[in-house]
Amino acid sequence: MYDPLVDDGPGCNENYPDSYWAEKSGTAPVDDGVLTADIDVDVLIVGAGYTGLSCALHLAREHNIKAHVIEANQTAWGCSGRNAGFILKSTGRKTYAQIESQWGSEAMQQMYRETCEGVETVEALIAEGIDCDRQSNGYLKLAHKPKMLDTLIAQAKLQQQRFGYQVEILSKDEIHQQYMEDQNAYGGIRYHDGFGLNPLKLAWGYQKLAREAGVKIHSGTPLQNWREENGLQIITTPQATIKAQKVVIATNGYTPRSFHHLTDARALPVLSQIIVTQPLSEQQLAQCNFLTDNVVMDTRALKYFYRKLPGNRILFGGRGAITGKGAEDPYYSQRLLSVLKTSFPALQDIQYDYAWSGWISVSLNDMPHIYQDDGRNVFYAMGYCGSGVSFSVQAGKRLAQKVAGQVVPDLPIYTQPLQKFPLAPMRRVGQWGYFQYGKVKDRWL
Ligand SMILES: Cc1cc2nc3c(=O)[nH]c(=O)nc-3n(C[C@H](O)[C@H](O)[C@H](O)COP(=O)(O)OP(=O)(O)OC[C@H]3O[C@@H](n4cnc5c(N)ncnc54)[C@H](O)[C@@H]3O)c2cc1C
Repeated sequence: MYDPLVDDGPGCNENYPDSYWAEKSGTAPVDDGVLTADIDVDVLIVGAGYTGLSCALHLAREHNIKAHVIEANQTAWGCSGRNAGFILKSTGRKTYAQIESQWGSEAMQQMYRETCEGVETVEALIAEGIDCDRQSNGYLKLAHKPKMLDTLIAQAKLQQQRFGYQVEILSKDEIHQQYMEDQNAYGGIRYHDGFGLNPLKLAWGYQKLAREAGVKIHSGTPLQNWREENGLQIITTPQATIKAQKVVIATNGYTPRSFHHLTDARALPVLSQIIVTQPLSEQQLAQCNFLTDNVVMDTRALKYFYRKLPGNRILFGGRGAITGKGAEDPYYSQRLLSVLKTSFPALQDIQYDYAWSGWISVSLNDMPHIYQDDGRNVFYAMGYCGSGVSFSVQAGKRLAQKVAGQVVPDLPIYTQPLQKFPLAPMRRVGQWGYFQYGKVKDRWL
């Protein structure tokens, strides 16, 4: 599997991975195909995931700038077509309490508003007619140990008091009786507004809207070389050269090594893994009391997440291998399956039908950054830390404003660059160390 810390690029015109989404979503909509002739453009966007598509759509609709998007493989071939489809008012890994103590309470309030706007924009775009199998509202955060319930309650109280955010506190029994009998859940909190959907269909819907607004999307067109000449960005692809006034980097966890000085060594690509089980029978559903299709995440340092899909399969996810070379090892899927079985012992005989993984982008300060260089010709948004289905749309919208020269909210995520990782070549050693710490913390602390 492509490894962003090892390989020079994610390939060219690769097919979608063998995921549940790729198999169940039907035929991909048409795009503008491989770029075969040289072009001069105002704005070039590299990467056709949610970030790139949102930036392109907002540039076209709100700033009358018709961008060209180039994608190495297929639209949403990266994270955007591989994720779990949780739409949440969140991004990054900092808690609101951490944001307040590090950036102040005004920044915390503004950050909350940004995440709300992200979800509102996604909902508004879906309402334009994107068929993406949206499920019912509700996001459960489950305490994996009794003492983690106190942490969740503190988070819920802060959000209720400071943002007026509706958060319900649930005992273990309430979760078991009203949602599902997860044996690893010791209570939890429930937000009334998260939901699950089909992430690939969502991206295809964005692509359709963007093309209707005048955007050109060239799949099978990897950026292979990039240089700057007289203030112009010169991009080479296999069959064409692009001269661009401005370039937006929207490659997130799939950004190849040595890509651009603005992003090099400023993120850690981390594999997140998903399995999708066989459909549960009526008897299995009853044994687990699996009543809900709300999206679910736990409180572990090394988090697990799951949801019941249409058709009663369970999507279950968590961390994957450390390297691209290890990504296809069935060990990681089997591990997810065995954790699923500890939550639901009645599913001892269940197998998984689909398994795949994708690269999320982790930043040093646990938050995404949306930034541009001093010359204001190169822009990027990356580092969602595995929480970007809705926020990448907000990031794309803010990127579009930056490209158009407009002012965006005064928040560190919009004004500061991603920090460089110290000892960048050792990032994977640090990741391995964090995984060891997480295992100890989740089990014993
Ligand atoms: C398994 C998994 C589960 C997840 N679940 C959730 C979830 O439930 N909720 C949530 O909020 N977030 C989730 N995420 C994270 C979320 O999917 C991402 O934050 C989001 O999709 C990022 O979108 P993006 O457009 O920035 O990047 P991507 O979708 O990764 O797009 C980047 C694109 O850039 C292209 N590219 C790279 N290099 C080049 C090049 N040289 N030339 C041209 N193109 C190039 C790639 O091919 C890729 O298609 C999950 C991620 C994974 C992997």
